[in-house]
Amino acid sequence: MAERITGHTELIGLMAYPIRHSSSPAMHNEAFATLGLDYAYLAFEVDNDSLEDAVKGLRALKLKGSNVSMPNKTVVHKYLDELSPAAKLCGAVNTIVNNDGVLVGHITDGIGYMQSLKEEGVDVIGKKMTIVGAGGAATAIEIQAALDGVKEISIFNIKDKFWDNAVETVNKINENTSCKAALYDLADLDKLKEEIADSFLFVNATGMGMKPLEGQTYIPDKSFFRPDLIVSDVVYSPRETEMLKMAREVGCKTMNGLGMMLFQGSAAFELWTGQSMPIDHMKEFLGI
Ligand code: NAD
Repeated sequence: MAERITGHTELIGLMAYPIRHSSSPAMHNEAFATLGLDYAYLAFEVDNDSLEDAVKGLRALKLKGSNVSMPNKTVVHKYLDELSPAAKLCGAVNTIVNNDGVLVGHITDGIGYMQSLKEEGVDVIGKKMTIVGAGGAATAIEIQAALDGVKEISIFNIKDKFWDNAVETVNKINENTSCKAALYDLADLDKLKEEIADSFLFVNATGMGMKPLEGQTYIPDKSFFRPDLIVSDVVYSPRETEMLKMAREVGCKTMNGLGMMLFQGSAAFELWTGQSMPIDHMKEFLGI
C-alpha cells in the first residue's frame, strides 16, 4: 500500500456510523490494486450530525466519491446536487460520485440485486415477482426492478413502522414506471401463497432468517413453493436461511444475499472508475 499511494492517488470515502466492521474498504482496495488503478478507499466515522460538514469536505478535497451507509443513506441527498432516478424514487443514496464538482447521488443496492440475478442466468424482466420487505434493502430492489422492466410486483410486509414506506413505494412505482405494484399484509398467508403461485421469483428482503431471527421463516410450509420458482434471500449470514433450505428441498433454484452485496459494490466501483470490478477475483478474495 505504501508503494501504491502517490500524490496523484484519488480518494474514495465511506461515510457511516458505526463502520469499522465494514468489508467495503478491503473489497475496493483489493479491486484497485488488482486492476492497477490509482485509487484508495477509506472508511470515515460520520453520523447525521457531521454529515453536512463531511460532504463539504468531500467537495473541498475533491474526493472522487464516497459510499454512504446508515444512518446517512436517507439524509445525504440534502447535501448533493443531483440524484439518479432510482435514488430519487427510493429517497436513499449509498454512492456519491463527484463529477468535476457536481455531486451525484446513486443507490446501487437494487442495481446490485438485479445484476446478481443476471449473473445467475435469471431473467425476471417482463415477469412477476413477489417480495417481502419495506425497509432499505427491499425498497431499493422494488424500485430498481420496476425501473428495469419487471411487469408486476406483489409486496408483502408486516404492519409495523415500515408499512407507510411500503404504501409510498407502491404509489411511486405505479405513478412513475410501467410496472404494476400492489401491497398486502404478510399476516394474510392465503394471499401470500396465491401471489407466489403465479410469480417467477420470490424474494425475502427482510432480516428474517438472520440473527436475532436466525432459524425462522414466515413461510409456513413447503406447499408455498414449486420446483420452477426462483427463491432468493437478501440475507447472507447464514449463507442458507431456513427459507432457502425449504426452497432447496422443494427443488427451487435458490440465491442468498452475497451476490447483491458484491454487485452493489461493483456498480459503485464502476461509477467511480469507469471500469468493471474483477468479479471472479473478488469472489475468491471475499470467499464467496
Ligand atoms: P430495515 O430495518 O430497513 O428493514 C427491515 C424490514 O424487515 C422491514 O420490512 C420490516 O418490516 C421487516 N421485519 C422486521 N421484523 C420482521 C419480522 N419479524 N417478520 C417479518 N418482517 C420483519 O433493514 P434493511 O436495511 O432493509 O435490511 C433487511 C435485511 O437485508 C437485513 O437482513 C440485511 O442484512 C439485508 N441486507 C442485505 C444486503 C445485501 O447486499 N445482500 C444489503 C442491505 C441489507
